[in-house]
Amino acid sequence: MSTSTSAVTEEQKPEVEQIEIWKCKETDCKAWVRKEFVTEALPSCPLCKNPMVRSYKHVPVAAKKGNKKFLVGKKRF
Ligand SMILES: [Zn+2]
Repeated sequence: MSTSTSAVTEEQKPEVEQIEIWKCKETDCKAWVRKEFVTEALPSCPLCKNPMVRSYKHVPVAAKKGNKKFLVGKKRF
């Protein structure tokens, strides 16, 4: 008998992309904005007026709209 141990540790990771953002320097403040939406060289936080710092953020890749069918019939454990 042979038992196949196939990738039990493999997880289904959602696809993410890294985007450049400005985020509020204040750690308690969760404000952030995509860099592409900012025109100022040094923006200030719209909420608390603190300076913002350049950072990166991982966001889920926006699902493309379309009629593509996803495989939903397969059982995964
Ligand atoms: Zn802020």
